[in-house]
Amino acid sequence: MLGKRRSGPSLWRPVSAKYSAVILICENLRFFSFRFKKRLGGGTKMSKGKVYLVGAGPGDAELITRKGYQLISQADVILHDHLIPTELLRVARADAEVISVGKYAGRHTMPQSEINALLVEKARGNGTVVRLKGGDPYLFGRGGEEAEACVEAAIDFEVVPGITSALAAPCYGGVPPTHRGYASSVALATGHRRDEKKVEPPRADTLVFLMSVANIEEIIKTLRESGWPSETRIAAVENGTRYDQRVVEGTLESFVEVAQRARLRTPAVFVVGQVVALKEKLDWFGKRPKILLPGMHPEKYGHLGTVVHRPLIRCVSLEDHTKADAILSRLSPYDWLVFTSTNGVSFFFERLHAIGLDARALGSVKVAAIGKTTAEQLKGYGVLADMLPELESSVGLLREFRKIDVEGRKILLVRPKAGASGLSDGLAEAGATVDAVVVYRNIEVEPDEVDFDYIDQILFTSGSTVRAFLSRYGSVPAGVKVYCLGQPTLDEASKHGIKAELLP
Ligand code: SAH
Repeated sequence: MLGKRRSGPSLWRPVSAKYSAVILICENLRFFSFRFKKRLGGGTKMSKGKVYLVGAGPGDAELITRKGYQLISQADVILHDHLIPTELLRVARADAEVISVGKYAGRHTMPQSEINALLVEKARGNGTVVRLKGGDPYLFGRGGEEAEACVEAAIDFEVVPGITSALAAPCYGGVPPTHRGYASSVALATGHRRDEKKVEPPRADTLVFLMSVANIEEIIKTLRESGWPSETRIAAVENGTRYDQRVVEGTLESFVEVAQRARLRTPAVFVVGQVVALKEKLDWFGKRPKILLPGMHPEKYGHLGTVVHRPLIRCVSLEDHTKADAILSRLSPYDWLVFTSTNGVSFFFERLHAIGLDARALGSVKVAAIGKTTAEQLKGYGVLADMLPELESSVGLLREFRKIDVEGRKILLVRPKAGASGLSDGLAEAGATVDAVVVYRNIEVEPDEVDFDYIDQILFTSGSTVRAFLSRYGSVPAGVKVYCLGQPTLDEASKHGIKAELLP
């Protein structure tokens, strides 16, 4: 049985069968419920492997479901499309097999039949196979065919829906597809047809077209012929939900020229209808600054704007632990232990545990944390910070230490290799004896591509990210505003002639 709901008002309006697929969503249509009959290949024994068809969301890496994210981190094999946010692959297991079967603008790196065969082959190897697909797996993504291939091969499968670009791209472009004042129905259609026959557009108040960049002129022509007035608004959202999103807008009359002038490229979603007029008012995403973060912890800065995370450094453990181990095994002579980052905390305790010790090794040593996140991290190891400065920076820490008498006190700073020395100098000036224990180091890594034309700001969170940025890109592009977290980072930027401001 397909579609449990049989009675009630007729929900479907006639739809052109000439489009490869069309979905109508009306305001009064709340629930769809499809029940699939299990066809397990006439008693064929099922393979122990399992396929998950996972929607990766439209482009913004955070727009994936928790279930999908978790499956990526557990998968033995990941087969992914071209259009998925590549950041998502960073959570894959180090030993996972990651295969790109990407399709892009009609260029298929692998024919669909081969993708289906590969899915089946990998699942027969008894592993967990994640088939990661852009947007929603069942919307214009041939996910249905991949699921059928699993059924035919008696492979167990599950589908994890995703946020489709058909709805998310208009949303980030400032256009709600329905609105009580303008539109009570929306049709999602593809402009990519298998045949060359003339097309009839679907009927709804708002039309959303996918895979239509190459055909937009013809689509507009048929819209006009079927009665849509020439002044009807149309917008294209290119690279929707990504930091490099562009919105190109016009009327059915002007749009072909507008799109050509803008050199509109795939992937793009087109929205047609009165709702496009709301863009002026509702362009929330376009107004947010796009912030390049070459350091770590993008989750901390989301409130500042759209974070474009391109890590240039990674924290790794030391090659030689001899010195650190010697210090860690004798902490009792110190009066204070100072943590200036969450990385410092995790590498400190990792090493402490490695030499067979735990938090008890701190004994009566007092502990200072640079900020709340670092203090939280310490709590996880059973340590409550004795000092937590109001101003979360090394300057703030120094202020706190100046309030107490540190003359003759022994202070141990937990640091990365080649870390900033401002705090150490300041404490020594105040009369303390300062030692440092180096527990990790930063290494430079090759970042994913970034298009600086779309970047408004750069946020440096440490001196090492400033140096790594300069060694990778040479200089800060003109017109990009630079913010630094903490005075030592700002000092490092100034040292290299970068005009920057402290992050408020
Ligand atoms: N299953 C996908 C659609 C796959 S078809 C989904 O639910 O989103 C590929 C088409 O999706 C592209 O041609 C384009 O029209 C659209 N698309 C995918 N990602 C997009 C993005 N970030 N911005 C705009 N359009 C996108």
